[in-house]
Amino acid sequence: MISENLKKLPPYLFDELDRKAEEKRREGIDIIDFGVGDPDIPTPEHIVKACCEAARKKENHRYPSYEGKLEFRQAVAERFKEDFGVDVDPEREIISLIGSKEGIHNVHFAFLNRGDYVLYPDPGYPVYKTAPIFAGGIPYKVPLLEDNGFLPDLEKIPKEVVKKAKIMWINYPNNPTTTVAEVEFYKEVVDFARENGIIVCSDEAYSHIVYDHKYRTILQVEGAKDVCIVFNSLSKTYNMTGWRIGYAIGGEELIKAFRKVKTNVDSGVSNIIQDAAIVALRSSQECVKKNVEIYRERRDVLVEGLKKLGFKCEKPRGTFYLWLKVEGSSIEFANRLLDVGVLVTPGIGFGEHGEGYVRFALTQSVERIKEALERMEEIF
Ligand SMILES: *Cc1c(COP(=O)(O)O)cnc(C)c1O
Repeated sequence: MISENLKKLPPYLFDELDRKAEEKRREGIDIIDFGVGDPDIPTPEHIVKACCEAARKKENHRYPSYEGKLEFRQAVAERFKEDFGVDVDPEREIISLIGSKEGIHNVHFAFLNRGDYVLYPDPGYPVYKTAPIFAGGIPYKVPLLEDNGFLPDLEKIPKEVVKKAKIMWINYPNNPTTTVAEVEFYKEVVDFARENGIIVCSDEAYSHIVYDHKYRTILQVEGAKDVCIVFNSLSKTYNMTGWRIGYAIGGEELIKAFRKVKTNVDSGVSNIIQDAAIVALRSSQECVKKNVEIYRERRDVLVEGLKKLGFKCEKPRGTFYLWLKVEGSSIEFANRLLDVGVLVTPGIGFGEHGEGYVRFALTQSVERIKEALERMEEIF
């Protein structure tokens, strides 16, 4: 009954951990959840207000356009200019997405032929690996190793694979390893893509969640647009994961092909949500800075606490995660933490090279983080 493609998808690994967490919750045991990458802080009030007002406008009640309102795309272009110093053409080089996950999946259908390879980072966001399978392609993992600063080693990808590769995924600031990228790295990637006829898909969902690091995009590399598509979203920057709005930016040819796929798949992002997003992008960005300061304080408390418990860890430079190296199996480690009511994500869930790590999402208050550290003291 089930399709061959669906059968090829990797198994879900956390059945047992989930069951155990659910059981504990049912027993009324308090769980401190560092598992999901979903901000606990609400969407800023001025954005919520704009949404309520937009809902009253009759013209917003009809189907949106496939590529998004021009005003939304203009607001994205303005933000890109201000934050990254990059010029993009709102009419030809931007398309709205129903959250970036949607685009990360659908983009493969625009460019992959049967048997084409897709290079994806391991550990990494699971969609980079599953989407190519749906589109008839072959995902090929590129390890992100600590020794190489969690950057892909482009030299090490076998030549035969590079020849057959059509798309390469990169993601900085990186989920789950928290690494940030410098422009030099992006330059190397763009050169590699151009030499080998590969389209770089750069997932920049955490572009604005950085600590003492400048805002970076691969589009800061001269001419990158011809071979790159950037995926970004309002989800993490403005605590809008539940709103489902993102965008892709790239050269005209790339975006045109992508748009053609989407006209056959969905009917765009709600006009109401787009109006709220326009306000988010065009208003003062103080709320973004405040957000980052909240994560910074949580990060510092967690890192200091873990060090006191004897763990080795550095302060992450980007994202709202902590990628902690642990002894032994990551699932077993997570299980031990769950015994004291602390839930983290085992690294193996992000791929084979995530083994030996667990991920903490900094989506709990400082008080809860302190409490989690106290509980961990009982077992370490
Ligand atoms: C959260 C996240 C996204 C964004 O997802 P949306 O669909 O825009 O909410 C994309 N990539 C990574 C790596 C993420 O962690």
